Amino acid sequence: MTYQHIKLPESGEKITIKNDKLVVPKQPILGFVEGDGIGPDITAASLRVWDAAIEKAYSGKRKVHWCELYMGEKAAGIYAGDYFPAETLDAMKALIVSIKGPLTTPIGGGFRSLNVSLRQKMDLYACVRPVRYYSGVPSPLKKPEEVDVIIFRENTEDVYAGIEYESGSDANKKLAKFLREEMGAEFFEDAGLGVKPISPFASKRLVRKAIQYAIDNNKTDVTLVHKGNIMKFTEGAFRNWGYEVAKEEFRDHIVTEQELWDEHNGTIPEGKILVKDRIADIIFQLLQLRPAEFEVLATMNLNGDYLSDAVAAEVGGVGIAPGANIADHIAVFEATHGTAPKYANQNKVNPSSLMFSGVMMLEYIGWNQAADLITEAFISVMADKTVTYDFARLLEGATTLSTSNFADALIGKING
Ligand code: NAP
Repeated sequence: MTYQHIKLPESGEKITIKNDKLVVPKQPILGFVEGDGIGPDITAASLRVWDAAIEKAYSGKRKVHWCELYMGEKAAGIYAGDYFPAETLDAMKALIVSIKGPLTTPIGGGFRSLNVSLRQKMDLYACVRPVRYYSGVPSPLKKPEEVDVIIFRENTEDVYAGIEYESGSDANKKLAKFLREEMGAEFFEDAGLGVKPISPFASKRLVRKAIQYAIDNNKTDVTLVHKGNIMKFTEGAFRNWGYEVAKEEFRDHIVTEQELWDEHNGTIPEGKILVKDRIADIIFQLLQLRPAEFEVLATMNLNGDYLSDAVAAEVGGVGIAPGANIADHIAVFEATHGTAPKYANQNKVNPSSLMFSGVMMLEYIGWNQAADLITEAFISVMADKTVTYDFARLLEGATTLSTSNFADALIGKING
């Protein structure tokens, strides 16, 4: 495929899919989007760290050939005002795996969120956020080391589907009349109205991905998070469909909490994954008080949005939390924070969110040795208390490093 502005690297091969699995060449081409605001600073730093770890782990036998793709303000400059060029979308699909920095979204006007568009156009239905504690990272918890959870958040429906009717609009009046007169619904005059679609298709594919992850990564529990006691036919249905997938498609691998007590005396049978469910409000409490009880969470869009940031805050916050948006195979890894415009081009912020999203990406393509080197280097740099400003203000006796010097410190550890 030829592109107008995207330059495919001269060497390297594309990742392909065979028998429903990724086939990763030794020298794959991976896409990256620099992002807006602090994006260029954290991307430059992270690319150097990823490349150093790959070189160290595989001594030149494996190498990523990076292909720059354009979204956001940089794209608008190159593509005459187009913030999300069609060829970027095509390239992300063709390359299968890519990573992106944060992108600006104007509040209350302007264009639609590029992140939301990206997720919808590529049907990246699972937002995956691992949250774990790294020794030395400032935390408000007494036992932060007990936090090691991965959140699978449904990305395509729920109140985020954009089916909303403004108070006073014709469409709102029409829907309100129908709901009152045909459906017997009662609500205050001039209420804004929104629709919360939760389908068996979207719920099941999300829960399927979470359980498959648990199997592939030797996890022992998957928790379905919902507010089904109140929203029975949406959140409650999500729970029910989740258990259906678990029992119908993973029967040999799982035991439900009900079965655990009815048939196994409360002890998980050897090698089985416990599938349980918790109400959304209590899970916020449990993840602070007894985080060790949760390894994999599967939930809908809104719960997942709140939960991801809340859990990340327990172990270092958004400056460090990684994430990915994943379809069946295509995956776009991303920093979970925004563009922090007040710090743009200051070489100041923490690159760890993007850098750890890259660690997730390396694991996704099976390059765990390189991924582990970065994680080990990070722990070692934390032990030295050589950190960027955000951690320095929370750690007594820390030395503040710039973004690029923080990357240098990591690379020093990787090579040391
Ligand atoms: P933000 O960019 O995440 O920044 C909020 C604050 O978080 C910063 O002021 C800073 O706190 C801290 N922070 C963020 N990234 C950091 C990093 N790498 N290292 C250290 N600290 C970091 O949120 P926002 O100001 O609400 O949003 C700005 C823009 O980003 C908006 O246009 C928004 O729509 C967009 N956004 C994009 C994405 C995305 O692309 N995925 C996600 C969220 C928001 P201190 O000031 O306390 O140091």
